[in-house]
Amino acid sequence: MEQERMIKLEDFFDFNSKEPINRLGYTEDDMKYKIKIIEKMKALGMQITLDKAGNICGTISIGNHPQKTIAIGSHTDSVYNGGQFDGPVGVVVGLQTAESLIKSKKCTGIIKVPIYACEESSRFGNACLGSKYLNGTITEEDFSSIVDQNALKQGKTITLQEAINFANSYLKEHVDDIQEVDKIFDTVDYSLEAHIEQYDSLKKAYKKNKQDTIGIINSIGSAVRIKYDVEGQANHTGSTPMKKRKNAVDATAFIGKKVRKLGKRYEKQGLGRASQVEINTPGHNGSFNQIPNQANGLIDFRLQGENTPETVLEDFENIRQQVEAKTKTKITPTVVSKGTPVVTSKELNQKLTTICSQKGIQAIEMPSYPGQDTGYIPAKEKTMIFIPSTGGSHNPEEHTKKKFIQPATTLFTQLSKELLEERFRDAQRVTNIPRSTYESSHIPTSKVTSRDTDYENMLS
Ligand SMILES: [Zn+2]
Repeated sequence: MEQERMIKLEDFFDFNSKEPINRLGYTEDDMKYKIKIIEKMKALGMQITLDKAGNICGTISIGNHPQKTIAIGSHTDSVYNGGQFDGPVGVVVGLQTAESLIKSKKCTGIIKVPIYACEESSRFGNACLGSKYLNGTITEEDFSSIVDQNALKQGKTITLQEAINFANSYLKEHVDDIQEVDKIFDTVDYSLEAHIEQYDSLKKAYKKNKQDTIGIINSIGSAVRIKYDVEGQANHTGSTPMKKRKNAVDATAFIGKKVRKLGKRYEKQGLGRASQVEINTPGHNGSFNQIPNQANGLIDFRLQGENTPETVLEDFENIRQQVEAKTKTKITPTVVSKGTPVVTSKELNQKLTTICSQKGIQAIEMPSYPGQDTGYIPAKEKTMIFIPSTGGSHNPEEHTKKKFIQPATTLFTQLSKELLEERFRDAQRVTNIPRSTYESSHIPTSKVTSRDTDYENMLS
């Protein structure tokens, strides 16, 4: 099938190369890569839109009664010295799926292939900027207060607004027929995203199942980040009795130990992970004979499944109180970010599982610990899949194979066909049958047979 496609994986990936990728969000390199994708969108007959956050979308309407909209995309930006596949795989799978749907002539709907702007936090210290803009987590007003962190270290200020202006002007200059809009979409009926897996769960699944395995993502993690300050009391390390010490660094050590224990409990219960990631001792100057009176620390909680920021903050409050009592210090926490994990659509995941077994594709349900665009995309139903990858992620060794990407396209094509055919048929039934009858006689989709025949009858 691959050789017959207009959208070829080789046009976007060099499967023999491990050259580092530096396609930071909104840079010229990122725009050049995006233009390659836009050219393919146009070749498929898609209309191109560009929004105020730099999100790009190819759209095409297929069939006779387009009602439902499906978006299949991801991001193209990378971290510093990153790999080829984190992000673009999802966009190329979107293009290939669109190509298959256009050719199939068996469904009707609006197909969108979005490229979400600046998913990686490397440049602006804030991730998923494009998808956060779509769901209103960040707004245009925030664009001037978010700044390029690397430029800042070199004494320059580049705001997100300036970066977007550069990127959008570059695109308008190099691409004809690009339509500017406020947002590429306010909401869609369905959102699908394919992404490489960024650790080793699928490798383990392969070893266990002796078969290539994909991941169906049931939950997308979020972060709760806490910065805390400890106020102790400086004194002589030799003369002060143990019971009288108010050592600020002791407090950070106890907090670190308790957070680690809590993180291990979360992990065991499928609720996340946690670590203390940095401590500082302002004004202490590393002197051995002085008890440090000040310290601060950073804690990164990664939430998963049913866990909530409120639960985490409550658990941290218990730790804070215990450590204060033990070390006779004062600990003041500040919550830096507070995200809630996103549970993906059970209905879509069930359909994907069914399609996998029909097509002989091995699959497991698993969470995504890292945040993803899918966590923010405004869609009535959404999910994502992971494909196997080797060499980790966010480094040039990151690698995947053609044979791992292909099943993603197969799955999304089949799922999209079912969703778009089904809605078309449902819409027809609603108009033809009195509502009460329709509701009581509604047949679960998995039991419906001869779908294609139904569809063809309706067309005629
Ligand atoms: Zn990514």
